[in-house]
Amino acid sequence: MKSYRVLFYALMGTLMVSCASNIVKEDISSSVKKDESSQHVKEWPKTIEPQLLNIRPGEVSLLVVPGTFNRAGSLKCGGKDYKFYLADNKLVSFISETYFSKEKPFSCFFFLKGEKAKVADIKTLSKKFPSERLKVDKKRVFLNKKDAARARKESKIRAKAYASSPDRPLFFEPFSHPIKSFVTSIYGSKRVFNKKKQTQHLGTDYRAAVGVPIKAANRGEIVISRNFFYTGNTIIIDHGLGIFTMYGHLSKLHVQEGEIVPMGSVIGLAGSTGRVTGPHLHWGVTVNGLAIEGDSLVEASKGLPR
Ligand SMILES: [Zn+2]
Repeated sequence: MKSYRVLFYALMGTLMVSCASNIVKEDISSSVKKDESSQHVKEWPKTIEPQLLNIRPGEVSLLVVPGTFNRAGSLKCGGKDYKFYLADNKLVSFISETYFSKEKPFSCFFFLKGEKAKVADIKTLSKKFPSERLKVDKKRVFLNKKDAARARKESKIRAKAYASSPDRPLFFEPFSHPIKSFVTSIYGSKRVFNKKKQTQHLGTDYRAAVGVPIKAANRGEIVISRNFFYTGNTIIIDHGLGIFTMYGHLSKLHVQEGEIVPMGSVIGLAGSTGRVTGPHLHWGVTVNGLAIEGDSLVEASKGLPR
């Protein structure tokens, strides 16, 4: 067990050193059992056993498939491309399901040089979300022209930040919560603002007084650290593999865009900037373009091979 852990960290360390290390990564993992892996390559894709995985709307599940895969291949689930990495003769990926799920099963396939192998059958379980009513400053519900233009511009900046992510993980450990505190509004609650406008709350709100330190949920690159109309002082971290975490309504930003932050480092202080009813932390998690529940990422990442 211990040697696997050492190998995992050695592997991840190698990845961090060089961006062009995709091939290196594979060479390391396949050199573990040379004879066995060369057999696997010949027989591929027959040796791959499809995994059975459950997922809920608005959640992420960890996919780990034993077998010798090739970095040059691609992974598709339910017709969508997913980033993956190879560790210790396993393919690893985080599969997300939309909040607006139709709760239908889907499959994951690995494609390589015109060949295709099924790697997972995914069952979507059902999930119900509660409703809540909120009263906020009406200027932040029905926007005037200037604010609407600002919000539109910021939504483009956000979209650009989420548009690309490294094909490899920038993190070495499972994810953790950004603050240990009481949850005041769960992910997925249907919200009625000022009795009129309806949205879904696709993040988690934690009780947090102004000035409380907020920690990075994992290692990653700061891609946004600035003030936005809705989310106030906002930080977005790109963790690689298409995984992002977002921290909203902060009073202070302690990091700059482009910076790499270690897991658990204080990136800012809680506050009440943007569209809020009071001071709190809004924590948002995005995996492969879908806003999912942060708890499910914390849970799923506990199963990372190490
Ligand atoms: Zn929120």
